[in-house]
Amino acid sequence: MDSLAKDVANILIKYPLCNRCLGRLYANLGRGLDNAERGKALKIYIVMELHKRVLEGDSSALDKLKLVIPNIKMPLQPLLNTLRINAEDKTVNEMKRCFVCNDIIDELIDSYSKRIAQLIVEKPRRSFLIGVVVPSDVLEREISIVEEYQIMHWESIKRELKREIGKRVQQMTKVNVDFSKPDVIYIVDLIHNSIRIESPSLLIFGYYLKLGRNISQNAWIRKDGSRKYPLSVEDAVRSASFTVGANDVALHIAGREDADVRVLGNGRPLVIEFKNPLKRDVSLSELENALNSFSRWIEFRITMSVGREFVSRLKQSASASFKIYRAVFLTEKSIDPGKVTELEEYFKGLVVRQRTPLRVLGRKKDSIRKRRVFLVKILQLAPNLFEALIKCEGGLYVKELINGDSGRTSPSLSEFLGVKTTCLKLDVLYVHEYI
Ligand SMILES: [Zn+2]
Repeated sequence: MDSLAKDVANILIKYPLCNRCLGRLYANLGRGLDNAERGKALKIYIVMELHKRVLEGDSSALDKLKLVIPNIKMPLQPLLNTLRINAEDKTVNEMKRCFVCNDIIDELIDSYSKRIAQLIVEKPRRSFLIGVVVPSDVLEREISIVEEYQIMHWESIKRELKREIGKRVQQMTKVNVDFSKPDVIYIVDLIHNSIRIESPSLLIFGYYLKLGRNISQNAWIRKDGSRKYPLSVEDAVRSASFTVGANDVALHIAGREDADVRVLGNGRPLVIEFKNPLKRDVSLSELENALNSFSRWIEFRITMSVGREFVSRLKQSASASFKIYRAVFLTEKSIDPGKVTELEEYFKGLVVRQRTPLRVLGRKKDSIRKRRVFLVKILQLAPNLFEALIKCEGGLYVKELINGDSGRTSPSLSEFLGVKTTCLKLDVLYVHEYI
């Protein structure tokens, strides 16, 4: 058997699966098919393959077939008769329930689709979106098979439920699914057997500036409840959420700067998500005013309201963008001005290797990234004090480019100059976007 058939046979020898839950494991193979069709086809193929082997005299194939039959729920009595497998044989006669969904997925799709269609009849909507909350034990069982057989082309039960319920409701009501700006979201909660009606998030695109230091992006609350930084961009957003009556917020930001780094110039792009808002018709200028009234150290420039797909575009844009920084740094010894000119030349267009900085190792795994420095321009303010403008690729750790991080970033300014170098102050001056 080829590798796909072998895997499927091994799965079905061990796990009882309904057509849908089996087909879903290979959802990205053979586009345009329904997972139930896909699963059924795989089962039929495996039975045919094993039957062929039995006929060829392979005795292990018969044993496998006996194990597979209770796991696939198919009308195979004629085959059993042909193979003289005793129908009284308990092992083949017991039809087991689906290991992942316990044989209820089709019923769930059917009943929830009808309930939601009824809700739309009662209160007509222009468009909708389906969300699903699936019990964790179901997700865990699905993942355990995916991991055991290292399946690459699977789709989660959550995604299938969302899509299938959406499709059915659309057919029944002629109201369309809208992924970007739905009129309403129906959350199918399989844990509580309920449908929650949510107002879709309000997504606002704009820029934030940090005019002071010690401001984090998200409110950084320690385990003991104390704050690491007095102020955060998130605080300002939360304070403005009353203008739209949102019950929660989220920040979608391309990239991140340290809390002690100011963000000046055009600011850093972000999408603010106001969740479950009561009001949707608030003007952008009203929102901007609310955001800006929070603190004089954080400033927002609001551009437009956007759809959900914009968030992923913004996040993808981070690695393709370039940034300009201003850094003030100190060297342990005086530097010859000629060496400074050499440094500017050396770093022009240079690719730097950076191991995850020591200061973020606790939060991120140790890996190596390569980022390009486009340009470094240096003003020598004193024999050992400098101001630098650095233009580089998004994702480059600038403090480490300067201090070398004990050799973990190479080349670095410290390495090139051959002295200990400390970054005193850092500002983001410009963030280029390709959104
Ligand atoms: Zn199932």
